[in-house]
Amino acid sequence: MTQTPPDNNVLDVLVVGAGPVGLLLANELQLYGCKFRIIDKNDVGSIHSKAMGFVARTLETFDNRNLVEPFLARGSIPKRAVMYNGDKKLAEFTTFGADSPYPYILFVSQKYTEQFLEESLRKASGSDVTIVERSTTLVKYTEDELEDVVVATVTRPTPDGGMEEEIVKAKYIVGCDGVHSAVRKGRSDWAFEGKAYKSEWVLADVDIPAGTLTTDELQVFLHPDGPCGFLPFEDRGGQFRIIANLGDFGYDKSARVTHGIQDERHQHVAPVQRKELTLEDVQALVDRRIAPAKVSISNPSWITTFRINERMVNGLRRGRTFVAGDAAHCHSPIGGQGLNTGVQDAHNLGWKLAFVVQGKVRDAELLLDSYNAEREPIGNNVVNATSYLTRIISQQTYFVYLARLYIIPHFFRSERFQKEVRAMGMGTNIGYRDSPLNHPTPSILRQKRRRQSWLGWFLSLFLGKPSCLIEPGEHLHDGTLKMPRFRPGHATLMLYDVIRGTTTHTLFLFSGGNGVTQESNALVGKVLDVSRRYRKTITPVVISFVNGISQGDFDDAENYVEKTFVETHPVLHNLFGVKMGSQAVLLVRPDLYITFSATAEEVEGGELDKFLGGYLVEDANI
Ligand SMILES: Cc1cc2nc3c(=O)[nH]c(=O)nc-3n(C[C@H](O)[C@H](O)[C@H](O)COP(=O)(O)OP(=O)(O)OC[C@H]3O[C@@H](n4cnc5c(N)ncnc54)[C@H](O)[C@@H]3O)c2cc1C
Repeated sequence: MTQTPPDNNVLDVLVVGAGPVGLLLANELQLYGCKFRIIDKNDVGSIHSKAMGFVARTLETFDNRNLVEPFLARGSIPKRAVMYNGDKKLAEFTTFGADSPYPYILFVSQKYTEQFLEESLRKASGSDVTIVERSTTLVKYTEDELEDVVVATVTRPTPDGGMEEEIVKAKYIVGCDGVHSAVRKGRSDWAFEGKAYKSEWVLADVDIPAGTLTTDELQVFLHPDGPCGFLPFEDRGGQFRIIANLGDFGYDKSARVTHGIQDERHQHVAPVQRKELTLEDVQALVDRRIAPAKVSISNPSWITTFRINERMVNGLRRGRTFVAGDAAHCHSPIGGQGLNTGVQDAHNLGWKLAFVVQGKVRDAELLLDSYNAEREPIGNNVVNATSYLTRIISQQTYFVYLARLYIIPHFFRSERFQKEVRAMGMGTNIGYRDSPLNHPTPSILRQKRRRQSWLGWFLSLFLGKPSCLIEPGEHLHDGTLKMPRFRPGHATLMLYDVIRGTTTHTLFLFSGGNGVTQESNALVGKVLDVSRRYRKTITPVVISFVNGISQGDFDDAENYVEKTFVETHPVLHNLFGVKMGSQAVLLVRPDLYITFSATAEEVEGGELDKFLGGYLVEDANI
């Protein structure tokens, strides 16, 4: 029997897939009060470790969504990655030290990730039972252009052993349904191009006795047969993931498919048709690869083999349909970026869908298209970067082997090289600098031209990088707010404390020493005016500097912005490139990327009004 919803029962969003990506998206939609459902074909969540490494940018996202605590309580944090050739240490890379409040990689099994995200979804919905609809499979969908909805057919087993079918209507559908995505395959204009490696890989989660391998290092042993890596995880208690290739490195030319993944052989992590590996097989491989060192492995909780595919979908949006996470890009798990990229896809898309269905933006198409414009290049970069890394670690040609032994270790001795690699690996250099949502004010355009010119580059060699106003597309850094104690409750805060859980944009006024009341500072009046017109989409925050501020400034609530903070040292002003005495205004999106930054003169000249007028809908019209 097919159940069809009444016409007024149209969802805002149907989320297909309750892996980490779908679950984060569902958490976002829940936070904004959207009407959504999340379905998954499996009857339980992941039972294996699968994706484990969370990098700084993802943890910053979890922090902002009040999700980070259980991950910190559960995970383990190695300090460094070390590359060995036999018993000789070739290179050491410090994984600790990214520019973030979470300056490290945190290892947590995917099974816990899914549990934590599902639990927070359940709590936020005020429900006693999970709101993920399990054993529910998307079979097909179409876009109904007359009704402006997606019409999806889902099936689920019935208690009598049969199968029931339901028609679900939604304004948007998002495929978070992994590498074999039914959402992606549901449209013939979506291709998933790329290539597959010839070699098979083994992954084994095992125990290693205390004292044999340090638990605060990722260790990779190079060997002419291929690499063998050890990743400590969970509870800091001697559990390790072993990952190693099983032979023949190179690309499988026959696996260059254009439309979807055609068969099991082309899966991201295909179960390989070979005799199942036993603990003894893995022990023999380890013995050979790490000799003369010795470790004895036991208690395998998971041994599997897989082949690596590198693929990227051609566009993340088609009409009312989106793909995110592994449904959009798959690549080598070496580098640990699959999960992180997917979670960040969901964080990018969630607020955009919510703002569109709630009628908060002027140009819905521009906002929805910006998901592709911002996330597709990141997906492509990740596929390419992890491909290089996998080849450098694994390729068995004589030249690459010698480079690994003698050239690459030199690079790792440079702190500057380490810093660049860390920023890339931790995601702290991710920005949407060419986003169509950015508003380039004249001063920002001038600044960019100067910065990108040969002369600017040459001068920066001698004078250092000039202090510039932070530009649209950058992520909001965290920083310490040291405040004078004018009133009870004022203390030292982190900037991320001020904006945690935000579902609006944040309009920051960095007012230097220019006063925090309407009377003393015209820009405060401007910010108050904006916040009255855009209360549903913008929250104002003023950060000022102690010079020129008196306790009396805070007496009349009408005259200053409720969230006003005063710095005793201009730490945040410096962090965002606002010089003392001058003022600047930043508009930060709910996902913490800056979309507008301007000088006081530009705001007074109408740049902010012009930008907001074309971007957000005033409260009166929502
Ligand atoms: C062995 C292995 C090791 C890995 N190691 C790492 C690592 O170290 N670091 C890293 O970052 N990544 C790693 N990955 C990759 C990582 O697991 C994925 O990038 C991550 O799980 C992607 O999350 P996702 O939510 O996009 O997809 P998935 O986790 O695959 O979730 C997709 C969900 O969609 C559901 N689904 C599928 N089709 C349908 C349908 N038609 N209807 C309803 N539901 C459907 C599935 O049941 C599943 O629950 C590894 C993967 C594997 C398998």
